[in-house]
Amino acid sequence: MEQSIHQDMDDLHWKLDLLDSIEVGIVVIDRQFRVKVWNEFMHNHSGVQPDTIRHQCLFDFFAEIDQDWFRQKVEPVFTLKSPAFVIWEQRPYLFRFTSYRPVTSASDLMYQNITLFPLASRGGEVEHLCVVVYDVTDEVVSKQRLATANEQLRKMSRVDGLTGLYNRRYWEESCQQEFKRCMRNHGTSSVILLDIDYFKSINDTYGHPAGDQVIRALARVIRQIVRETDIAGRYGGEEFALVLPDTNADAALQVAERIREHVQRNTVAYEEHNIPFTVSLGICQFDSSLKGYMAWIELADKALYRAKDSGRNLSQIQRD
Ligand code: GH3
Ligand code: MG
Ligand code: MG
Repeated sequence: MEQSIHQDMDDLHWKLDLLDSIEVGIVVIDRQFRVKVWNEFMHNHSGVQPDTIRHQCLFDFFAEIDQDWFRQKVEPVFTLKSPAFVIWEQRPYLFRFTSYRPVTSASDLMYQNITLFPLASRGGEVEHLCVVVYDVTDEVVSKQRLATANEQLRKMSRVDGLTGLYNRRYWEESCQQEFKRCMRNHGTSSVILLDIDYFKSINDTYGHPAGDQVIRALARVIRQIVRETDIAGRYGGEEFALVLPDTNADAALQVAERIREHVQRNTVAYEEHNIPFTVSLGICQFDSSLKGYMAWIELADKALYRAKDSGRNLSQIQRD
């Protein structure tokens, strides 16, 4: 008998030690939400001593817990005697703890996964339940970092390095999307192709880096003039392409002319030079008889060719 009491006490100490040394929060509450067990993890992170909170209502200490929600959540644990889970994606945390792990400095708060499981008495009734609090901040932060990195990569793969406009691949994809949208909705969107006039001679006269500077300056002009919903890309060396949603050829011509005139009026400063240049533009409005988005681009290119052929520094519309 004596032996068995000692054995029980040893077991109890051993279990309490274990509760206090594990890196998860353990809280036992009764049906009135009075705290029965509060382990060291909970003490460390909340600053609330086990002796202070024992037999007290959990809600009195942690106002951040949404009572109605929590009551609903624990109800089936008592009645159905089955566990329940709350993951951080549903609720970032149950207890508002600060996170002080060095690797998780990216987050101030501790993200938590919560398990609620029933504790049955010897008679089988469930009068208590155990709340287990897992600190998942590291996992969440690395997941968020990965998502940010992926987003940056995705953006980088769309963008032309010299100008910051969309690259040709992405621009063509967008053009294709717009083409499909116009087919469905009988849309009136337009494509503009733009090419710098006599660009070879700019490179030859001022050097290749000066040419790059001209390309960059033109990209800035385009960005300034077009709408946010317009899709501007660098199509090739000194060629740019635009998709103007819900813009007919005449309205697109106005945009083209604004770009052309702006370029003509201004020069690009490079070292001691002020470099003048001009652009030619070809415009084509969507038409449902077009065979595909490439045909749409080709017609705009045809208009551009006509602008070049007619003397450059011009905008032309392709009407068939
Ligand atoms: P046009 O008026 O008929 O358009 O004549 P152009 O000289 O502009 O046309 P062409 O297509 O013959 O020449 C384009 C030149 O652009 C050739 C190429 O060396 C240059 N180029 C292409 N990409 C770049 C670039 O990224 N930077 C610079 N500086 N030059 C480039
Ligand atoms: Mg060219
Ligand atoms: Mg050119």
